[in-house]
Amino acid sequence: AQLDRIAAVDGDIHAFLHVDAEGALATAADIDSRRAAGEGLHGLAGVPIAVKDIVATKGMPTTCGSKILDGWIPPYDATITQRIKAAGLPILGKTNMDEFAMGSSTEHSAYGPTRNPWDRDRIPGGSGGGSAAAVAAFEAALAIGTDTGGSIRQPGALTGTVGVKPTYGGISRYGLVALASSLDQAGPVTRTVLDAALLHELMGGHDPMDSTSIDAPAPLVVSAARRADVKGLKIGIVKELGGEGFQAGVSARFNEAVELLTSAGAQVVEVSLPSLEYALAAYYLVMPSEASSNLARFDAMRYGVRVPPAGVDDPSAEQVMASSRDAGFGDEVKRRIIVGTYALSSGYYDAYYGSAQKVRTLLARDFAAAFEQVDVLVSPTSPTTAWPLGAKLDDPLSMYLQDVATIPANLAGIPGLSLPVGLADEDGLPVGLQFLAPQQADDRLYNAGAALEK
Ligand code: GLN
Repeated sequence: AQLDRIAAVDGDIHAFLHVDAEGALATAADIDSRRAAGEGLHGLAGVPIAVKDIVATKGMPTTCGSKILDGWIPPYDATITQRIKAAGLPILGKTNMDEFAMGSSTEHSAYGPTRNPWDRDRIPGGSGGGSAAAVAAFEAALAIGTDTGGSIRQPGALTGTVGVKPTYGGISRYGLVALASSLDQAGPVTRTVLDAALLHELMGGHDPMDSTSIDAPAPLVVSAARRADVKGLKIGIVKELGGEGFQAGVSARFNEAVELLTSAGAQVVEVSLPSLEYALAAYYLVMPSEASSNLARFDAMRYGVRVPPAGVDDPSAEQVMASSRDAGFGDEVKRRIIVGTYALSSGYYDAYYGSAQKVRTLLARDFAAAFEQVDVLVSPTSPTTAWPLGAKLDDPLSMYLQDVATIPANLAGIPGLSLPVGLADEDGLPVGLQFLAPQQADDRLYNAGAALEK
């Protein structure tokens, strides 16, 4: 049924870069026969899943939405791919994304944009617009995304799906193509909070292949999603994430959701995070700095496309690297590599990268202080609903500003969950609300999210 649905709508939506009908059907048939034989299977066995094209999948293309990895087929599976395969989830294919997960609209994909199923002339958010659109358009029951500054949660908000960025280190990064290693986290993209919890628990937990993986019992998110009770829960509204710059329909749905939480027995107060005003600036230094370093590995020697310079006989290795990177990377990736190498260069390191790291520390302290007063924080996930295709493409700064509410969680390493809270009056498009919790308290997000969903 999912493959039929993909065949019917994906020509228009373009959520997928690659569909593996044969592989998905083979897994499904295997699960059917194992179930018929009475074998005890994982609860999600047989549930089809879509995987963001930044996650290594053995034998299946992994492009990161970039021309530079066109045709690359990984020889190994990411840990999360291994875990979903072991549990018997048929992999439908790989989903579209902004090139190397840089962007908030999926328009920076080298393979063309994904369209928002709610209005096909609008963007689905990014960078994980493909995963979110696949779930929203009923092309997949579940999807995997990655979130470096909001790429799971913001597309979730803009497509009316649930998206979770776990605590940093909660889900293995082994086999994820690295964008900014200190910020990247994989997580679930689903239609309900409980679905997200089931997928989160399946993917999460310690992995010796990832040195930043947390070696401690993982939060029990499934039982938290089943609890769904906010009576007595202390919830803090982030003062800085609202008001000016937030669309009226977004604020209206957000305020209604907060009232629902209050009537369900939560204690709601306002909380201030004074360093938040510097978070966006700090992110857009830390992220390009780490990305410029991580992307150095795309040298046309080890993998990906190789484009020799035109008109040069016997080019040097350096000339081949330069011409391949020039042809293989898109404009946004080049912009960030330039910003990142500049911020890391010896004369400017302290002024830019060093200052950004200090902001990161201050922000983590603000969060720690806030979580002494409240159990979870709430804000709108995105300041606006989905915008028309092309509207922000020529203005990188206005695109970056869309990430104001999601980026702080990545800088502080804390978990965040976005869930739909209705449609904005002015445009009829989905609005998302975000919960944030302390590190390793992902279960609180699922409890609060499921309570609101009820
Ligand atoms: N939109 C943000 C960026 O462009 C976040 C991307 C992400 O989470 N991968 O960097």
